[in-house]
Amino acid sequence: MAQIELIRRTEGFGQKTAVEDWTGNFTYADLLRIARYTALHLLGDEKDLEEKRVAFIIPPGFEYVALKLGIWIAGGVSIPLGITHSSREIEYVIRNSGTETVIFHSDFAQKLEGISSDTSIRLLKLPDVLQPAYGETPRVDEERRAMIIYTSGTTSEPKGVVSTHLNIKAQITSMVEAWEWNSEDSILNVLPLHHLHGVLNVVLCSLWSGAKCVMMNGFLPKNVWNRFQRKDLTLFMAVPTIYSKLIDFWENCVISERKEMSGCFQGFRLMVSGSAALPVSVLEKWKEISGHMLLERYGMTEIGMALSNSYRGERLAGRVGFAMPGVEVGIFDAQDRQLGEGNQGEIRVKGKNVFLEYWGKPRETKSAFCDKWFKTGDIGFFEHGGSFRILGRESVDIIKTGGYKISSLEIEEVLREHSMIKECAVVGIADSRWGERVGVALVLREGFSIKLEELRDWASDRLARYKLPTRLLLLSSLPRNSMGKITKKLIKQYFENSL
Ligand code: AMP
Repeated sequence: MAQIELIRRTEGFGQKTAVEDWTGNFTYADLLRIARYTALHLLGDEKDLEEKRVAFIIPPGFEYVALKLGIWIAGGVSIPLGITHSSREIEYVIRNSGTETVIFHSDFAQKLEGISSDTSIRLLKLPDVLQPAYGETPRVDEERRAMIIYTSGTTSEPKGVVSTHLNIKAQITSMVEAWEWNSEDSILNVLPLHHLHGVLNVVLCSLWSGAKCVMMNGFLPKNVWNRFQRKDLTLFMAVPTIYSKLIDFWENCVISERKEMSGCFQGFRLMVSGSAALPVSVLEKWKEISGHMLLERYGMTEIGMALSNSYRGERLAGRVGFAMPGVEVGIFDAQDRQLGEGNQGEIRVKGKNVFLEYWGKPRETKSAFCDKWFKTGDIGFFEHGGSFRILGRESVDIIKTGGYKISSLEIEEVLREHSMIKECAVVGIADSRWGERVGVALVLREGFSIKLEELRDWASDRLARYKLPTRLLLLSSLPRNSMGKITKKLIKQYFENSL
């Protein structure tokens, strides 16, 4: 009998629907049965996988969830691989993690060609591992390693973030409490399932609560709007880019369609945004379309969710709210001194939610902590009253120019108010005189053009002089990673190449 609480809880939800995907509906009983079969196939003659790493590349549906639980029931460490990743990226994760078994769907067989001749890696195909099997499964202690998620790598080579079952439980229960998850909930997932947001906030919170998780194979605005029309969903969680794309789609519809689309939100009790800063313009437009004030939260692969606006109380635009239940959050200066309200500094986090280690990187793990606080590398402003504002990642969003330290997110928020600007990204560009200069990459609305001087003139009423951009680059789109986050490192390179 497994001792993992998540598995024990799912046993109690029997005939409730756990997952809906494009092939049908599956109950919790179905889910556990198939998960056990998978566990037994993985075990073979072994009694316990003893934290062996099992990677899997599977479309985001029922089978994905069953495999994930199956790996845990067998005592393994689950490593979800990105279905949109290249063979090279996938091979990196498999080799870096010392994965010994890879489960794959035939759609992705080609991505594994690089490791197919490696006899030290066992390749298991779907649906073989889902077929009936009988035998004993091990007791699995919750202190064991459970999952490795590779961070998106916007700043450096991806690192494997290792979480134990206890870490994951703390991360789930914090969200369940804060956002009042319950067994009547039903959530739509459109997020990739190799990243914490989709895996934890959507799939695992849903399983923990006995809710229904509706899984879409990828994100297409039209399909999401169509699914909303069935009016049976209560929750939606996504990144800002997804909300922007849903807004674009709505705006391109005729008035009668828009009305119908906006009429499908009565059943929702909560819509959440996170993983990147939510532009206030997107928050406001979404409120106009859906009647919902998005709840913005802040989290990270290493810690789960740390800060959240209030579920029941007032939600503040441009803020990420307060510390989540069971999570300690502090602001520190460069000398590691904790600062009080009214200051800005590095956000550090403590609690059972904080991950165990970076896989195979003891040095990086050690240097990521100070006095048991995890150093996020994000700069935040600790407001009077205890809420937080994110100023960005120290490494890419904080620009040091002429002795000032400025937040690119703050400048972006202002520039987005310009009627010609569709999207923008502000970066620091190395400069021998100023340290860094403020550069802005713009995507303009169709048919418009703008010169740097015009932009500076317009912005000078809204921003201090030292925050005004001194370099401008016009682009047709901003480069983004698979989570929709803008890859500022690339934008910096564009500037360097253009100089
Ligand atoms: P990841 O580990 O890939 O989920 O990325 C976590 C990073 O995303 C954090 O360290 C922040 O830099 C950023 N992030 C997450 N949520 C927010 C938010 N609400 N506002 C601004 N940045 C965010």
